[in-house]
Amino acid sequence: MQHDYAIEQLLKDELNRQRHGLELIASENFTSLQVMQTMGSCFSNKYAEGYPGKRYYGGCEVVDKAETLAIERLKKLFGAEYANVQPHSGAQANAAVFLGVLKPGDPILGFDLSHGGHLSHGSPVNFSGKVYQANFYGVEEHSGLIDMDKVEQKAMEVKPKLIICGASAYSRDWDYQRFRSIADKVGALLLADIAHPAGLIATQLLNDPLPHCHIITSTTHKTLRGPRGGIIMMGKNFENPWGRTTKAGKPIMMSDILNSAVFPGMQGGPLEHIIAAKAVAFHEALQDDYKDYTQRVVKNAQAMVKALMEKGYKIISDGTDNHLMLIDLRNKGVTGKVAEQALVKAELTVNKNMVPFDDQSPMITSGIRIGTAAITTRGLDEKDCHQIVNWIDQVITNVENDTTINKVKAEINEFMQQYPLYPEL
Ligand SMILES: *Cc1c(COP(=O)(O)O)cnc(C)c1O
Repeated sequence: MQHDYAIEQLLKDELNRQRHGLELIASENFTSLQVMQTMGSCFSNKYAEGYPGKRYYGGCEVVDKAETLAIERLKKLFGAEYANVQPHSGAQANAAVFLGVLKPGDPILGFDLSHGGHLSHGSPVNFSGKVYQANFYGVEEHSGLIDMDKVEQKAMEVKPKLIICGASAYSRDWDYQRFRSIADKVGALLLADIAHPAGLIATQLLNDPLPHCHIITSTTHKTLRGPRGGIIMMGKNFENPWGRTTKAGKPIMMSDILNSAVFPGMQGGPLEHIIAAKAVAFHEALQDDYKDYTQRVVKNAQAMVKALMEKGYKIISDGTDNHLMLIDLRNKGVTGKVAEQALVKAELTVNKNMVPFDDQSPMITSGIRIGTAAITTRGLDEKDCHQIVNWIDQVITNVENDTTINKVKAEINEFMQQYPLYPEL
């Protein structure tokens, strides 16, 4: 077989990029070496349609053990009664839940995409917005916060079958209890999508959705620091609310509805190499030093917000409870797109992001989103966050000055040499 030098070289280039730059994209992180190596393992060769003990293929004894470990560890991590570790991604996990609990055309209510919600919660360009009748709640313009009375009003108006809480760019905690009382009032199921703050929830730094939300979905690759993938959980399993029964006349449990929605409803063969890597990540998240990590993530985010506000940056909701912040750049006279491009040139990797009530298009935007999950994994602390804000500010106030941008880049590359990434590779 001919060795592929082209991809081998690109892997080296990407590792160098990750080593030398400052990764501030809120949805990214660096997995442990074991998580990464498990993704690139012989489990990738195995077909295992079905679930542990009930597969459509032979030879699944070993992957059954790995998937069972992943499920048991995940249940322990969140105190969940039910877990499914097969969704290929966060969007797939949401799609499976929708498929399991909704009928085409059903009304749903989620967080406004232009306020920081996620595509898979009813965007017109996503299947969730094409198949279901999507409605949204958002934040208040003056506070950047969700007004729960308005959520209730909206829910009474649109009578959703499913209410979704959770977002991609909301820096505040969620009132799951109030969401549940609203869901109960209108007869909706409640889904919490904790893709972003999952690791902070697992370590009790944020409100726990499991006692209040019927179903929980998440990714495993953001604050949870595992492989790229999705999961579904329930705090408590329950009988389906539509009176569906088995042939023998027994009520069907939600665990069965969700399992069959994932497979065979949404997906074919599970990615057992990724599931095994999820098991490794859950094992890591169950250790004491993971809680120490998530605490440092939040401290770093708060230090970053404080330093940014001192330099006159407008942070949506004026603070953060989690690992991320959304910066409104309108008072700085640059768009999100221009800021992203200049910052990326300096190897400060961020993403442009719509801010609530944005007057720019999603391709331009007025804001950037910053997160501290990845830099905290690298070992950076609050003092370093002040330095990062100095660099961000130098770039944003000099977006057209390549000399300044290159000077910042050189300083960052030099600085990051103190924080080796995958030295074994
Ligand atoms: C990131 C994210 C997802 C989707 O994750 P993918 O793995 O990219 O499909 C879903 N929901 C929310 C709220 C997210 O932030």
